[in-house]
Amino acid sequence: MKVLKRRSRTIVELVWKSGLLQFIWVILVSGALFLLVRFRPLFLPVLAALFAAALLFWILGCVFSPARPARRCPRCGEEGLVKLRRGEPVGVRCEKCGYQDKTKYVAYLDEW
Ligand SMILES: [Zn+2]
Repeated sequence: MKVLKRRSRTIVELVWKSGLLQFIWVILVSGALFLLVRFRPLFLPVLAALFAAALLFWILGCVFSPARPARRCPRCGEEGLVKLRRGEPVGVRCEKCGYQDKTKYVAYLDEW
């Protein structure tokens, strides 16, 4: 009985939450439609400007974010992977636990 009551309460919460989400979606879509109808001449330029700004920020983020290697060791989980030999594409070892893999490739490990 207790389990049934608990389950029905979670179902009610689920319906309430999904109904709330649908209500929010309806408000968002009707607001967007209102803005589209109200400011129709501005819609395409604003949309184009938003796309251009998103593209610009994407490019800036790619340019300024550093290329960092994934140095997490698969055995101990620490950030300890280094190259076996500098300049060779494959082969890593872990400084922390001694794990070694002669065939593993980790991008950007030479630059690090
Ligand atoms: Zn390790």
